[in-house]
This record gives sequence, C-alpha cells and structure tokens, in this order.
Amino acid sequence: MTLRLHNTLTAAKDVFEPIEAGRAGMYTCGPTVWNYAHAGNLRAFLVYDLVRRHLQVSGYDVTHVMNLTDIDDRILDQAMHAGVTIGEYVKPYVAAFFEDMGALRAQPATHYPRATEHIPEMVEMITELIENQHAYVADGDVYFRIASFPTYGALSHLDRGGLRAGARIAADKYDKESVSDFALWKKAQPMDDKLGAAWDAPFGRGRPGWHIECSAMSKRYLGETLDIHAGGVDLMFPHHENEIAQSEAANHKQFARFWLHSEHLADATGEKMSKSAGGFTTLRDLSDAGHDPVAVRFFLLASAHYRTRLRLSTEALHAASEQVRRLREFADRVRRSAPGPIDDDDLLRRIGEVRAGYREALDDDLNLPQGVGLVFELAREANAAMDSGRIGERGRDALLQLIDDFDAHLDIVRSEEPGLAQEVERLIAEREAARKGHDFGRADQIREELRDKGIALEDSQDGVRWRRAR
Ligand code: AMP
Ligand code: ZN
Repeated sequence: MTLRLHNTLTAAKDVFEPIEAGRAGMYTCGPTVWNYAHAGNLRAFLVYDLVRRHLQVSGYDVTHVMNLTDIDDRILDQAMHAGVTIGEYVKPYVAAFFEDMGALRAQPATHYPRATEHIPEMVEMITELIENQHAYVADGDVYFRIASFPTYGALSHLDRGGLRAGARIAADKYDKESVSDFALWKKAQPMDDKLGAAWDAPFGRGRPGWHIECSAMSKRYLGETLDIHAGGVDLMFPHHENEIAQSEAANHKQFARFWLHSEHLADATGEKMSKSAGGFTTLRDLSDAGHDPVAVRFFLLASAHYRTRLRLSTEALHAASEQVRRLREFADRVRRSAPGPIDDDDLLRRIGEVRAGYREALDDDLNLPQGVGLVFELAREANAAMDSGRIGERGRDALLQLIDDFDAHLDIVRSEEPGLAQEVERLIAEREAARKGHDFGRADQIREELRDKGIALEDSQDGVRWRRAR
C-alpha cells in the first residue's frame, strides 16, 4: 500500500517516503497563545492529528513537534494592557490549549517547544545568517535579505515581480533594503524588559520575529531536513516561505520534503474564521451550546477533506453528533452480539472490500470523509445481517477489525467513557436477575439508572439489547 500526500512544493500528490526508513519527523505550526484557539485553529490541529495517526497506521515511528508561539506583537500588546509579563499573560491560554486538545482527543505531540524557551537557538541561526550575508542589521533590527535567496516564493508558486509590487506598502516605515525583507530580530523597546520580552544577542538586545522560531525549533528537535511540515493555508505565504528561506540559507539543505496545507474553516456567514476579525467560536462556546467535543472532532475531521473549505453551522454539528452516535451504536452492537448461526460469504467479502477501500481512501491524501462514507454503507448492511443472524464468528471478527481501522483515525469509539459498556452489561445482568426473582421494583430502578446514563433498553426475543438514547 502506498501513501500519497498532496505536497504544496510540487503541487501534486507525491508518494510519501521518509528520509530514514520507518521514521517520520513532522513539524506543525501551533497556536499563538494570545487568546483561546478558535474552531478554525482547532481544525488545523486536528488535521495534524490525522496526518500523524495515519503515519502511525502506516507503520512509521512518528516524532511530532508542534510549537507554541508565546511571544508576538499581540501578546506584548495585551500583556502591557493587563500590566503583566508575557509569561503571565499567556499562561491561561496555554492551559486552555492543552485542555482543548485533550477534549478533542488529539494525540499529544512528542514535543511542544515554546518560542521564549529557545532564544539561544534562534540567536545562533540569526548569527549564521548575518555571517553568510543572508541577513543584515539595520538600526538594531535584523532582516533577512530576500534578494540573497533566489528561490524565494517557490512554495507558494509566487512570481517575484508580483511580490515586490504587492509589498510596496509603507516601505518608509522601515530601514529595510527592500520592502519584502522580513524581520528576524526586533530591537528591544523601552517596555520590553518589564514585559519579560527582551534578550541579549551579539547583534543587540531584542526579541525574535515570528518566522525564525519555527526554523530554529524544528532544527533543534528534528534536524535540518523535515519529512513533513504542515500548517493552515494562510501560513503558506509569507510564513512558510520565510521559514524555507531562513533554514535553507543557514543549513544549505532542503528544509522540508513534504509541505501539507489544510484549508480554512469558515463561520456561518462563509467568512474565514479569525481571531483578529472578532466573530470567532471557541471549543468552550461550542461546549456551552451543548455540543460534545467528540462530535466537534468528527465534524472538523471527517465531514470534509482537509483540503476543502468547511463551514461551521449548528446543523452540521448536529449531523456530526448523529453520525458519531450511529458509529458508536454499531460498534457496541458488534461487540455485544453473540455470533449468529451462519457466516454469510457475500457479507464477508463486502467487509473485506470496505476495509481495503477505507485504507485506500486514507492512503489517497487522507480522504477520511470518503473512507467513513464506506463504513456507513457497510454498517447498514451489517445491521440487517445481524438482525437475521447472518454474521457468525468470522464476520464478527472482520467487523471488529474494521471498527479498529476507522477508530485509529476517528478515535470516537474507544474514547467513550472507559468501562461504560461493562457497567451497562453488569446492570443489565442485575436487572435480569431481579426480574427472575420477581423484584420488579429493583428492575425498574435499574432501567431508570441506565436512562440517566443515556442508555435505553429494548427487550427482544434474543434477550435485552441496549442502545444510546439521543
Ligand atoms: P495561529 O494561532 O493564528 O498561529 O494559528 C494556528 C493554526 O491555525 C495555523 O496552522 C493556522 O493556519 C490555522 N488557522 C487559522 N485560522 C484558521 C481557519 N479559519 N481555519 C483553519 N485553520 C486556521
Ligand atoms: Zn511556523
């Protein structure tokens, strides 16, 4: 089986091959912790989770690095207004980020480097860039000299003429050689020391620009060439172009072999969700409105391919929640059902086809929505087959494997309350015993208890069945 990923560098779906067999190093641009992450940011983070999980399914030992941008202009601004240091200011947002990621079942990254904890690495890289003429000091600031890097723009397939024309705005605000040159280091301002946002460097006291942190921290944890670098499309230019320029000018090696860019989440009006624009929705908002984070996960991950735009709406979240419920109910039923008297061969073949089709969909640039579509079709057929006792031992095993296959990416079945199924089974057994002993009061009490847990019971010919009530 061959994994293909859409690579922005080549504008094609390329076969994924890592530098070192069996290992994959991935760097992903993480949150700027000046505020809560909004649902659009969370979409990007869940796409990283999907890439990482599918690499694992494909047999790779993955090192995943996601940075936390804990210093930038907005953070400085907000900290100054709040009268605290930047470290104090970002603290609750860093905690909220980890809470959100946990609630959304994102697998923790291997490393979460914070910009303010890697200043020496950035200073070292900037020093190298100044020494080899790719950067220059201008009045205490340090800029990258874009003219020194002829392939600038290759990632976003940008033509340099257009870049110069487009960037001519406010050129006189800076002491730059060229308007498109970008800051690697910003001279310390009078307030910066109080805010805990200034560091000494051979080229003067100051603080790092945003782009250099990713180049320096990815090198520290993953080396000079990354197998995969991912981020939202809005970061392709200029952020990722700048990362490439810095890293390749400093290391003389290709920076990243695969560039993955995920599309935006739009708000209900169809506008790209953004923190600066104001109208953004956080996971807290969605939870307060009664949406289960697991349904939010399913919506962001499985309702559209990562390279297509997705629009947030209450209806879409309800639909996602219903799909989660159906998949969980299906998984519960397969696990609980005793094998039927016959193993229908046609159905066995169908399960095999769907497992292969699901894997192919994921191998084809992570097409999770297509894979999940196949699972839903099969679930209908399998439910009917279970109704008529056509799923035996082999059929049940094959279905259990399929459930493991999709849950390796979705993580919605395993993620339910640990031990819930066993607890429900125990209560059902107790209720049966109570009924046999004519203790109907206790039996009713147990039914109530289960209802409180969101579980409905159905008495049928072949015993008691349970399902999740809506
Ligand atoms: P930030 O916290 O702004 O640095 O962004 C963190 C991640 O969220 C980056 O990968 C962005 O590209 C991504 N991102 C920002 N806005 C959106 C959006 N509306 N939809 C999807 N991803 C987004
Ligand atoms: Zn970055």
